[in-house]
This record gives sequence, structure tokens and C-alpha cells, in this order.
Amino acid sequence: MTIKLGIIADDFTGATDIASFMATSGWRVVQLNGIPTGTVDLANADAVVISLKSRSCAAEQAVALSAHASRWLTTQGCERLYFKYCSTFDSTSAGNIGPVTDFLLAETRAPMAILCPALPINGRTVVHGHLFVNGRLLNESGMENHPLTPMKDANLLRVMEQQAQGTCGLVSLATLGEGKAAVVRRLAQLENEGKRYAVVDALTQDDLLTLADALPHNVLLTGGSGLAGALAARHPQPPQAEEFAPLSTGRTLILAGSCSLMTNQQVAHYRERAPSLALDVERCLNDADYQAELAAWVLTQSAEKAPMIYATRPAEEVKALQERFGVEAVGSAIEHLFAALAVELNGQGVNKFIVAGGETSSLIVQKLSVEGFAIGETITPGVPWVKDLHRPLWLALKSGNFGDEHFFTKAQEFYHA
Ligand code: ADP
Repeated sequence: MTIKLGIIADDFTGATDIASFMATSGWRVVQLNGIPTGTVDLANADAVVISLKSRSCAAEQAVALSAHASRWLTTQGCERLYFKYCSTFDSTSAGNIGPVTDFLLAETRAPMAILCPALPINGRTVVHGHLFVNGRLLNESGMENHPLTPMKDANLLRVMEQQAQGTCGLVSLATLGEGKAAVVRRLAQLENEGKRYAVVDALTQDDLLTLADALPHNVLLTGGSGLAGALAARHPQPPQAEEFAPLSTGRTLILAGSCSLMTNQQVAHYRERAPSLALDVERCLNDADYQAELAAWVLTQSAEKAPMIYATRPAEEVKALQERFGVEAVGSAIEHLFAALAVELNGQGVNKFIVAGGETSSLIVQKLSVEGFAIGETITPGVPWVKDLHRPLWLALKSGNFGDEHFFTKAQEFYHA
């Protein structure tokens, strides 16, 4: 069997997000946390996703990391490459998406790259080449204030041309509305005009499916998880059933390290229904015995409903803690305590972790030495259960704003005897 897609994702939760969108069409997806040093069994994989941490680093470094990943994926026999970035086109002021795309164009000798960040199911749409988040222009959506990748312009053609070497054309919504043949013609026209990049409008899932049908084999694919999901939907595989579902035996622990609005709601909801403990943030910073105390608390709870430890607080409280201890110091202390606790408790029978927070998840996976995982059933769009490639360990890793208030309970409904 050939690996249909080899995906280079510029961050960790983005990698899980795209993996999950393909898995919903029955694709067997393996996600690797960085480039593996040893061999990995990819015999049954339809897609392989390598998660990098390249979104916010310098462009040169992002290119070097992506080069390494793309060569590894090609060596493994991936039929085509896909560069996954955020559906809000997050890029630094120097711009990483352009340079990485230029590198991959040269590497694969593709004549043109498709740029398709749209993810209509999550409110990310592109119209007249402009990116919208829940109906608001990208630069008026809150993303203009992002601390690392502020997006001040919603015109993707302009943003791309500022970052990259070549010029950019548009496949408009009107063309998509005319169907596959019109899109094929438009892409050929742009290529003849010497365009290196084609931004594709998309307002609905149907638009993504039309694009998936029309894509020539030789173009480079770049974008969000929507297009990859549409490609998988057009070539569905038999369902994986319960192959990677978590076992009901063993304990589960919920660790909430996100302070997003949605995680606050999820914590407030779950706290009323299961054993819960609010993390004492000050003790994270200065009490060496705190971890052992937390571990003992977890192990003395009934295993019936997963206990939850949460650092999650409303924004005003977080701000006060950050002012008192420093943003970096407090964030890092919490992340490291959660990761160390996960490692300790994994050694004591906790085989399932439900984690809220992108950075929090990334460090936990790293400290648990998870080289990669297989993607299981979707709990909520973009968040699947995943199973470690080498041992019976399951993870549900949610970036802050994903899911609804029932998420923690819902995740526990996927266990199998
Ligand atoms: P999200 O996906 O919502 O962005 P992350 O895990 O990526 O979540 O980031 C949340 C950051 O906030 C982490 O560094 C975490 O340690 C930190 N944090 C969590 N709780 C608190 C708190 N009560 N006070 C200050 N920082 C916190």
C-alpha cells in the first residue's frame, strides 16, 4: 500500500487537527512528533503527519526543519507532500509560509502551489482571496493582536507575495461554483501565466470537495486541515472501528492547562460531576513536594470517573498571577509540573490522559517520550483519541478553544472493554 499524503505540520495541535480530519474518512493516520530517529512501521498508513515546532521560529530555521521532514517523508514513499499551516494563515512578520512553500516547490519541482487555509466547519472561509474568521476579516478577528503572529492583512495574495519569491493568482468562488472542469481550466491558466501560487476561495465544504476533485497531480498542496479532509473524503477507506480505541481498564487523568474561555467552561462543568482539584499555582513554583502530593491524590480517587487537576482560571486571575510571578515563569512551571506528573502516574497505572492546552499537550507528549501515535476516533472536530505507537497509552489532546462544555465527559465515552 502506498502512503497517499506526507504532511509537514508547523505545530503540534495543528498536526493532530489535520490527522483527525483524515481519520474521519477511515484513513489510517500516523502522527510523528518530529522526525523519528529509528524506524517506524508505516505499512498500513494512508497518511503520515510530522509535527514540527516551526510556526514562530525564524524563516531560515523553519525551512531547514521542513526540508528535513519533507525528505524523510519522501524516503518513506509518500506519494505527495502537504504543507499544513494554521487556518488563520499564522505567519511571522518575516513570514515562514512563503519561504517554506518556495523550498518545497523547488524540492518537488512542482509548477505551482495551492494555498487553501479554509476550514468552513470551524468558520474559516476565503472569499475574493480574503480570509475570514467566523465572518470577520482576519485582521479584525482578534488575530491582529496575536502575540507571536499578528495578522494585519486579510488579503492572502498580498500576504503571500510579501513573503515569497513569485506571484500569486486566485481561484475564485465563482469558478468553484462552475465545478471541477472550470477549476482545472483556471489552475492551468494561472500556471501558464507563470503564477507560482494559487489562493483558492472556499465558503463551504462543497467548495473544498470541488477543489479536491480538480487538483492536478503535480501541484504542491499547502493549507489547513479542510483540504486534507476533503481529499480523504473523496477516497474513503473502510472504518477503523475500535482499532485504536482506549481500553476501559487502567486509570484516566484530566489535566487542564489552558485558560481559554472554552476550557474555563469545560472545567466549570466537569468540576460539578467528578473529583477535581484546583492547582495551587504558587506551590508549582516553589514546593518540591507538591508533585508527590498531587500524584497521591489522583491514586486515591475512584477510577470510575476520571479525576481532574486544573490550572485553568478566568483571565483576570491569570493576569494577576502573571504579574506576580512573570508570564514565562508561571506558564513554564505549570507545564513542567503537569508533564512530570503525567510521567510519574503513567508508571503507576494511568494509561489515558485527557489534556487541555496546546503547549501543555506538547510538553506532556515530549516528557512521556511519545515518538508518535495512531489516530483514533474523533471526540470533537479536530480532537481525536490517539494511541502511542509503541505502548498501551492513549491521549486526548485539545487546544484551548476546541470542543463544547461536555468535552471531558464525552472523551470518556469512547472506551472499550
Ligand atoms: P491554549 O491551547 O489555550 O493556548 P496552552 O497550554 O497552549 O493553552 O497555553 C496555556 C499557557 O497558560 C500554558 O503555558 C500554561 O502553563 C499557562 N497557564 C495555565 N494556567 C495558568 C494560570 N492559572 N496562571 C498563569 N498561567 C497559566
